[in-house]
Amino acid sequence: MQVDNDFQIPKTLCGQTYQLNRDMSQQDVMNRMDIKVSGLLKFDEPMSQHTSWRAGGKAKYYFEPAGMDDLCRYLRAVEPDEPVLMLGLGSNLLVRDGGFAGSVIALGKSFSKLEIDELKGQVYVEAGVPCAKVARASARKGLCNAEFLAGIPGTMGGALAMNAGAFGGETWNIVRSVTTVDRSGQIHKRVPQEYTIAYRHVQMPAEEWFISAELQLQKDKEGKSEQSIKQLLEKRASTQPMGLPSCGSVFRNPPGDHAARLIEASGIKGKQIGNACISEKHANFIINKGDATATDIETLIKFARETVREKFSIDLQPEVRIVGNEINSNQ
Ligand SMILES: Cc1cc2nc3c(=O)[nH]c(=O)nc-3n(C[C@H](O)[C@H](O)[C@H](O)COP(=O)(O)OP(=O)(O)OC[C@H]3O[C@@H](n4cnc5c(N)ncnc54)[C@H](O)[C@@H]3O)c2cc1C
Repeated sequence: MQVDNDFQIPKTLCGQTYQLNRDMSQQDVMNRMDIKVSGLLKFDEPMSQHTSWRAGGKAKYYFEPAGMDDLCRYLRAVEPDEPVLMLGLGSNLLVRDGGFAGSVIALGKSFSKLEIDELKGQVYVEAGVPCAKVARASARKGLCNAEFLAGIPGTMGGALAMNAGAFGGETWNIVRSVTTVDRSGQIHKRVPQEYTIAYRHVQMPAEEWFISAELQLQKDKEGKSEQSIKQLLEKRASTQPMGLPSCGSVFRNPPGDHAARLIEASGIKGKQIGNACISEKHANFIINKGDATATDIETLIKFARETVREKFSIDLQPEVRIVGNEINSNQ
C-alpha cells in the first residue's frame, strides 16, 4: 500500500472550473465531458457510498462502464492530466475529505464473468467478481487453493492490485495470466513474470488496470475445500470486528512480527479520534463508529504509526490506499 499524495486538484479540469453540483443529470455530465457513454456516469459522487469505511470525500466523476467498449471509450475521452482511479468494492480505500479530483471507475456488474473448467482446474474471472464468489464456486466445482479468497471482501481486480491474501494464501500464487487495459483503451495480456510481486504489493505499469485473470487451481482430492472455507470464515469472525465499517488491516505486518501485536503492545487499543477508533478486538483494524471523517481515520493512522515508531523503532507501512485531497486544499 502507498499513502498517495500525488493527486492534486487542478484549478481547471476538462477546461472548466471544478464546481460542486450533485444535481447534474447524466446528460449534463456527458455534455460537460464531451463524451457519450452507456454506463452510469455521475458527477460529485460521495465515495462514502462506495468504500467499506463508509467515510471520505467525493469523486469528481464516478463511472460504471456498461462493458469493455464503454470503458475504453471513456478512458480515451478522459483528459490526459485527469487522474483515474479504478475501484473494486472499496474495501481497502480511503478517499480524503477534500475528494478525488478525477474519474473513479467502478468495474462492477459488467465485469462479472466467472467460468470454471474443473477438468483443467482453470478459472476465468473478470475484475468485478467478488473474491468470495471465486472461492465458493471453485470449491463447489471440486477445486482447491482459492479458499483463502472467501473472507476477502473485495473484487478480483482489487485482489490482483493488492496481492490480497490470508491464512497463507496469496492471489498471485494462483494467477496464470491477466488481461489489462491502459489509458488509450489498449488491451494487454500479461503473465505474472511481468510484475514485481510482494506481500500485499504489486508493481505494475502505471495507468494500466486489471480487467480479468486466468487462475490455475488444483483438484481438491480430499474434498476439503468447502469445509476449509467454513473454518476460515469462523476463524475470521472470532478474531476480527465483523459487521463494523473498516478496511481490514490498516498496516502491513513488518517482517517477523504483526502490526496488531505492536499496536496492542503500544497500549493504544480503543484510542479514538472523532468517530474513528482502534478496534478492541483486532488492533490493526480502525473502525468507523458512526460518522467518522476520512481526516479522523487518517489522523488515527498517523497516531498509531508514530506511537509504534516511538516505542519500538518500527515504521509500520500502511496497507490501505489513501487517495485524494485534504479538505482545505486549494480547489
Ligand atoms: C473486514 C475486512 C477484512 C479484510 N481482510 C483482508 C485479508 O484477509 N487479506 C487481504 O489481503 N485484504 C483484506 N482486506 C482488504 C481488502 O478487502 C483487500 O485489499 C481487497 O483486495 C481490496 O479489493 P477491492 O475490490 O475492495 O479494492 P478497492 O478497495 O476498491 O481498491 C484497492 C486498490 O486496488 C486498486 N484496484 C481496484 N480494482 C482494480 C483493477 N481492476 N485494476 C487495477 N487496480 C485496481 C484500487 O485503485 C486501489 O488502489 C479486508 C478488508 C476488510 C474490510
